[in-house]
Parts: sequence; C-alpha cells; structure tokens
Amino acid sequence: MTETPSPARMHALSDETRATVDVVLDYARRRALYEDVPLDKPLTPRDLARLASGSITPAGIGARRAAALFENVLAPACVSTDHPGYLSFIPSAPTKASIAFDLIVSASAIYGGSWMEGSGAIFAENEVLHWLAGEFGLPAGAGGVFVQGGTIGNLSALVAARDAARRRNREAGHPDPARWVVVCSAEAHSSIASAAEVMDVDIAKAIPDAAGRLHGDAVAAALEVHGDAVFAVVATGGTTNFGIVDDIASIAAVTTERGVWLHIDGAYGLAAMLVDRTRLLFAGVEHADSVIVDPHKWLFAPFDACALLYRDPSIGLRAHTQKAEYLDTLTDAADWNPSDLGVQLTRRARGLPLWYSLATYGTDEYRAAITYGIDLARRIADEIESREGLSLVRDPQLSVVVFRRDGWTLADYQAWSERLLDDQHGFVVPSSHAGEPVLRFAIISPLTTFELLTSILDTLA
Ligand SMILES: *Cc1c(COP(=O)(O)O)cnc(C)c1O
Repeated sequence: MTETPSPARMHALSDETRATVDVVLDYARRRALYEDVPLDKPLTPRDLARLASGSITPAGIGARRAAALFENVLAPACVSTDHPGYLSFIPSAPTKASIAFDLIVSASAIYGGSWMEGSGAIFAENEVLHWLAGEFGLPAGAGGVFVQGGTIGNLSALVAARDAARRRNREAGHPDPARWVVVCSAEAHSSIASAAEVMDVDIAKAIPDAAGRLHGDAVAAALEVHGDAVFAVVATGGTTNFGIVDDIASIAAVTTERGVWLHIDGAYGLAAMLVDRTRLLFAGVEHADSVIVDPHKWLFAPFDACALLYRDPSIGLRAHTQKAEYLDTLTDAADWNPSDLGVQLTRRARGLPLWYSLATYGTDEYRAAITYGIDLARRIADEIESREGLSLVRDPQLSVVVFRRDGWTLADYQAWSERLLDDQHGFVVPSSHAGEPVLRFAIISPLTTFELLTSILDTLA
C-alpha cells in the first residue's frame, strides 16, 4: 500500500499529483462559493488532539484523508472571519475575485522581492500603490510595498523615520539623543508600542480630547518636552476600537513646522478616504511622510497584506536595503526592489489579489462597498439609541459601533457572547472602554445586513 519514496514523487505530473491538486482546488472552489458560510467556533487543544492528531506519519495519510481532515475537523474549528455575523476585532470580507486570484499567486511561485525576478507582479502591485497614493493626496513620487500586515508596516515606516533622523544628525554633526522617542496618541494601536519595543525606543503618549481625537496642540506639547529626541509622530486614521480619526491636519501643521516625520496608521480606517463623505475627515494625510492601510481589512482582500507608502521611497530604501554578497547583483542595479522598502526579504506578491479585484470590478465598486459599511454603522447606531436598555458609547465616525447593555457586568457580556457563538448567530466579543466592558460591532462585510444586526440586538433584551 505504501509507495516507495522517490525524489520527484511530490512534484512529478503523475495521476497522483493531478488528483491531489484536484482535491484541493475542488474544496477551494466550494469554499469560495459557499452560499452560507458557516461561522464555526474554536475547539480545545484536547478535543483537537482527540479528533485530529496523527496526521504526520512516515508514509503520509494521502491527499484525500488529509483534505477530509481539514474540511471536517480543522476548518470547522476556525471562526470564519468573512461570516456576515463576524463583528469582532476587524472582520475580513475578501471579494470573490481576490479570493480566487490568491490561488493564482500561490500557483505561480513569484518572488516578489526583486524587480529582476518579479517585475510583472511588482508592476501590477505598484499600479495599486500609486492609485492609493493619489487618493491619499501624496505626490507623484510616492511609492511603497505590500508587507505582511499593519504591524510590520508601522515598524518598517518607523525604522525608516529613525534612520532619516540619524542621518540628519550625522550630516549636521549633532549627536543622537540618549533615547529616541516616538509620539503617538494614548489611543494608538498596540502595534506602535510593539514597534517601539523592537526598536528599543521610547513612546510619548500625547493626550487626545474627550472624544478620543488627537490634535496638533497635544503633539506640540509632547515635542516641547522631548525636543530633538522625537524622530516621528504617529497619527491614527481610524482607531481600531472606535474608528476615531485624529485631527491629522493640525498634527501635520506641527510636524511640518518642526520638520518631524509624520506617519499615518490607517490600517483599518484609511480606506474611508476613498469615499467622498468621509474623505474630509482625513484632511492632512497629504502631508504624511509615510502611510499604511491594510487591504485585508476594509479593502476586501484576503489575509494578509498591508500597503506601506512613503512620500519619498528613497528614504525607505536607504533604511531597509539588506546587504549581502549574494544579493549584490540585485542591490547594485537601480531597479525597484520591494524588499528594500520594509522589514522583509523574501516576499509573496501579496498585493496581487487586490490588484486583480480592483482591475476586475473597478474602483467605484470599492467606494460603494465602503460606503455601505459607513451607512450601516450609522443606521444601527440610531437603532441602538432608540432601544430601551441599550446605549451608544460614542457616535460612530466610520464603521465601528460601540455600545453597552445597561446593568450588565463583564460576566454577563461574556456569557451572552458565548451563547451567540454557540447558536452560530454572530461573533461579538466584549471590548472595554475606560475600564468598563462594552460591546462593539465592527462592520466590514457588505453582506452584513441591518436585519442581522437587529436580530443580534434582540438577544440583548
Ligand atoms: C489592525 C491594525 C493594526 C495592525 O495591523 P495587522 O495587520 O493586524 O498587523 C495597526 N493599526 C491599526 C489602527 C489597526 O487597526
């Protein structure tokens, strides 16, 4: 029964490898076209050990058995982030075109790190990046790279910012500060603290206003305290918890005047700049030195991709280009090498699913799908306000709605949340605000309906 191992068995065009590819593509096709995506839920390590262990063996268990194990046991133990009732964290809602094209990226073995190897793919990715840069009001020379996610995007941008500050000091004959400082809002995403940790720099948290927005005066005050030690200011274009957009214009006025790098963390919210109604909320982004937005959030691409843009990509290049003898042939050329713009070397052409989907449907469909989420958030916020026993914590700015069920403790919220998932009705985990438990709907999917949301609210009665 067991095949004799032979070096090319796993690669050759045999009946066996053809059947293996078919098994996988058949399942992928079915999953991509599910009429009712199951929400599913996690299992314990114990249950999974009981149901799914023993798949790694010297002779293998075969394509069919392994695929069946995935379909019947492992996949149902993963919550579907594209389910219309998935409303926690930031959901995903990849377009059909982007899901399907992701399979082509996998099948094509493209090295997306260097122009020499991946020029066609990189050209297409750059078309998307340049379109985004234009929408954000960045100058024609702006450019960047798709990196793994917002965390790596923020880290890469901040590393470039510090490198630029160091070079400026060196050229001016100034010593570097004992500790570099990055200024951000107290409401900034945890990935900024993670980047600061990795870079061994300090964070100065500027105080936002009562509505959670950071303004230029608070940034100016932080710059007053920390002076030349500050190498970057981070403004958030849509906080994850509330969708709050900082007052970027007033912050940019301060950073421009002081000559400090301005980074915009728009991982979730900057997509709303593509929509006329919310574009003005982001005024000032055009002054940014670097910007990120995650296509795997509100630009309807599959995991995982972050578009990182630099006003002046040569600064990113100077900071990130890796030097090695075996790479000299790449780094000596004047080519556009995406690896040189972020913390990475080998790179999947992870911007291609978004490119294909944008090319397929056109940008108007994207604007419409983003608008839908903003409208739905407004509508459900009004509904929450009108219901006895529920109260809105803040008016939604984008597509995140935070509210509370009067009189409930964290334990009440948790029990309710578990029941909602057990019933496969929705995935809504409690969040917290100012030390108090709250509920939060993060709306991304155009398949999330008002009726689904009100049916979830009904269970809070
Ligand atoms: C999600 C998010 C991040 C982190 O992005 P990942 O892709 O999860 O690494 C950073 N900043 C903000 C504002 C986010 O919403």
